[in-house]
Amino acid sequence: MADDRNVWVFAEVSNGRAAEVSLELVSKARQLAADLDGKVGAFILGETVEPLAETLIAHGCDEVYVTEHPGLSHYSALPYAHVIADLIREGRPEIVLFGATTIGRDLAPRVASQLWAGLTADCTDLQIGSHTDNVRNKTYEKILMQIRPAFGGNIIATIVTPETRPQMATVREGVMKMGSAEAGRTGKLVRFQPEMPDGLFAVDLLEHRAAESRVNLKGANIIVSGGAGVGSKENFELIRSLARLLGAEVAASRAAVDAGLIDKAHQVGQTGTTVRPKLYIACGISGAVQHRAGMQESGKILAINSDPEAPIFNIAHYGIVGDLKEVIPMMMEAYKKHTK
Ligand code: FAD
Repeated sequence: MADDRNVWVFAEVSNGRAAEVSLELVSKARQLAADLDGKVGAFILGETVEPLAETLIAHGCDEVYVTEHPGLSHYSALPYAHVIADLIREGRPEIVLFGATTIGRDLAPRVASQLWAGLTADCTDLQIGSHTDNVRNKTYEKILMQIRPAFGGNIIATIVTPETRPQMATVREGVMKMGSAEAGRTGKLVRFQPEMPDGLFAVDLLEHRAAESRVNLKGANIIVSGGAGVGSKENFELIRSLARLLGAEVAASRAAVDAGLIDKAHQVGQTGTTVRPKLYIACGISGAVQHRAGMQESGKILAINSDPEAPIFNIAHYGIVGDLKEVIPMMMEAYKKHTK
């Protein structure tokens, strides 16, 4: 089981399925493991989760570690961190990745502190590379480059944890691209049943209520997004109308959310959702680096902005300089005329 070239992923369970972010991380883990000449593993915890191993293997796992226990049916910090830390001590992977979800953000630091390992949160890229420590006069080969925006997004930092193992990182949903499943792909299932002292189950879960999100930015092919330049809630109706016409999802910049034009669930960017639609229409959005971090991988970007110098035009494939209150109605009219 132990191999210090392996890359492992925490497979989170969401609505009875392997969470998308975990499958995205499995795809990334494949690239990293190829550079290390290692294998990809995933670990999954729950009451009845063994059937999900098939999905993880189809997406690229070589090994899936399964721990089933009635006390693991819903996430609880103490038993989850205990099982995972035990498993990592035994398996000694080189790298362990978690989704930067509510659970991942709670769990990964607990596991890292139990293992005395480093952890970088909210990475936007991960690569294998070498690093020279000029103070120790030492070069570390094939270590994990943990890349993320820092200082409010003004710089991109590469963080390394060369001395401790495993190297651990969390990655936000939608940042890594999910590969497609390969039917019939084979892998190994390993049941892992560590000691579970009663003290681990100190918290009783009385009720579990999950609210379905009504916003699906990640799955949208077209997104119409409004920024502070939209100006008012009334004007935001223009964004919604264009989205309805195109069958698109509605999104927003943080400035639009902060101004109360729309709910935070619609926010795109560094502290919002990362999206990759075929078409992203940015209306009245300046294109700050924190916004771009969440949408610059879109297939095509169309920007509407009254300022010809707005930075959004640097990444837009198509740009319209003008007042969105005039441009959007004209676009809608033209679209209707051409789709009659
Ligand atoms: P502005 O920068 O105010 O731009 C408004 C634009 O509208 C301007 O370019 C203007 O020319 C144009 N405009 C004005 N009137 C019209 C009109 N009538 N027609 C057409 N165009 C018009 N931001 C995010 O979006 N997402 C994030 O996740 C995010 N996370 C952040 C995290 C941190 C730690 C920090 C420090 C900041 C974060 N921000 C985020 C904020 C970010 O720095 C910007 O402040 C924000 O993106 C600006 O939003 P905006 O482009 O809508 O507003």
